[in-house]
Amino acid sequence: MKKKYLYPIIILALIGLSILAYNMKNNKEEIPYPAFLKLAEEGEVVEVNLSDSPQFKAELKDGRTIYTDNPRTEDFKKELLLYGINVKEEGIGINELVIFLVLVSGLVYLLFHFKSNMGKEAEREMSNLSQIEDLDYKPNITFDHVAGNQEAKEALMEMVDFIQNPDIYNKYGARLPRGVLLYGPPGTGKTLLAKALAGEAGVPIYPVSGSDFVQIYAGLGASRIRSLFKKAKEAGKSVIFIDEIDALGKKRKGSQATGSEEGDRTLNALLAEMSGFKENEGIIVIAATNRIDVLDEALLRPGRFDRQIEVQLPDIKAREQILRLHAKNKPVSQEVDFRKLAEETVYFSGAQLENLLNEAAMIAVKEKEQLITEEHINKAYLKVLVGDEKKDRSSLTHKDREITAYHEAGHALVAKLVSQDIRVTKVSIIPSTKGMGGFSLNISPNSMYKSKKDIINDIKIALGGRAAEELVFGEDHITTGASSDLQKATEMVLSLIGIYGMDKESGLLNYKVLLSMDAKLDNITERAREILDKMYDETKNILLASREKLDVLAKALLDKEVLEEIEIDKLVSQ
Ligand code: ADP
Ligand code: ZN
Repeated sequence: MKKKYLYPIIILALIGLSILAYNMKNNKEEIPYPAFLKLAEEGEVVEVNLSDSPQFKAELKDGRTIYTDNPRTEDFKKELLLYGINVKEEGIGINELVIFLVLVSGLVYLLFHFKSNMGKEAEREMSNLSQIEDLDYKPNITFDHVAGNQEAKEALMEMVDFIQNPDIYNKYGARLPRGVLLYGPPGTGKTLLAKALAGEAGVPIYPVSGSDFVQIYAGLGASRIRSLFKKAKEAGKSVIFIDEIDALGKKRKGSQATGSEEGDRTLNALLAEMSGFKENEGIIVIAATNRIDVLDEALLRPGRFDRQIEVQLPDIKAREQILRLHAKNKPVSQEVDFRKLAEETVYFSGAQLENLLNEAAMIAVKEKEQLITEEHINKAYLKVLVGDEKKDRSSLTHKDREITAYHEAGHALVAKLVSQDIRVTKVSIIPSTKGMGGFSLNISPNSMYKSKKDIINDIKIALGGRAAEELVFGEDHITTGASSDLQKATEMVLSLIGIYGMDKESGLLNYKVLLSMDAKLDNITERAREILDKMYDETKNILLASREKLDVLAKALLDKEVLEEIEIDKLVSQ
């Protein structure tokens, strides 16, 4: 039963009991005092229960129990005894006592309940507020405690100097970043990175969670934000860490001026505090989220969280490093092959890897073994994965990875083959916020304008993923993985013919104008389709002609999960 039903039931029960007791009293046989005296004289009364209460109870010879008024005279007991009646004395009537006890215990229970439940809200408010005060500590965590995440680490390392020596930057009039947003899947080390930053800089960190600021009491979230910043400012150089910032930083409902919702108010307070920093105080605000897409744009503007750093799931190399890091303080057997373990833990987050070794250690303890062995890790593996089918060591995952590898290799290879100017800086098959895998291009434009050729290349690059899938696995096995690619390709081809007037056949008409005039767009749609189909065929041909390179790239991806520019260039130019 839910707790919240508990107390209406108790209250009802109490009322019921009281009524019952009251009725019991009323149902009993009462006689006038003179009548009682008569009975006593006649020797009809066997026993009397004397107390201080207004009435007393008497047992009659015929077995009846009667009540009558208590005269409360001094000699009453003596009188009764003289009649030969058995007199019993009670402090309080047993009935009253029971009712009294029930009521008291009920009250006590309710009091406790109120205190622990209703008061919980208020208590939490209070304790949270004081938590903000208490939770400033200087973490002794450094970047050495964070494995992988190279880019995020480097970006944060830069900030150590900002925090430590703001004066130097002030002298040069440089505006320091105030906020850094770390985004990526849970358990990838965002909190760890924030602590490492504070640890390296040797300043206190104020860790809070966005959900702490979501309050039922109006204005409390906003005032808590202010008190948090006040504390940090008093401490001087420091790091404020706001986990789950999406809880308070969701896109605002109202416009900035009219946003009246409590959440909006809290968010506005945060924005105001961040803009209210004196330029360079050595305070950095780090926020973390796994939902960057739901954040209010105002949070991402200059002067707020204008640095956004993606924290990704670890690739195979990083997984090995994380495993080794967390194995350091554990007696792990020499036989354990961390490289192999890293291979087997595709899609694991840092937290899950840590958890894996921890579970293995627990099993080793339970089995009273000296060392943590491969067998313990295998058992732990099953435990960590319970309910997480996606990370199963099944063939499905294997196939998924292979398809992703070919898909991403397809994008990368097409990019390298269609133009000399395009640099592919990274390809990965690690799932990210953007999808199963990803690739990064660095297109250095020679001019301000994009040419028709550039747009066509971009379209082909976007289609390269699906084209590779079809080429390698056949038409029936193409996947949904290309949906955002196709969206991009569609947008680009529509711009090409309907905005930039780059297609002879469609002419120079702007389709948005046509759209606004309710004109038929069938021709444009048909033409866009034609062009896309043609480009898709061309893309497939490009890949077909370089099929070996595609295989080499995909294999390398399966092996390393992430390829950097140098490796990509080397593989493609072979
Ligand atoms: P997030 O804030 O991204 O959800 P955390 O920083 O809370 O993740 O990670 C939880 C734990 O997982 C860390 O305390 C650490 O033990 C482990 N962990 C996660 N990522 C890493 C990493 N890159 N290197 C070492 N340990 C990690
Ligand atoms: Zn793609």
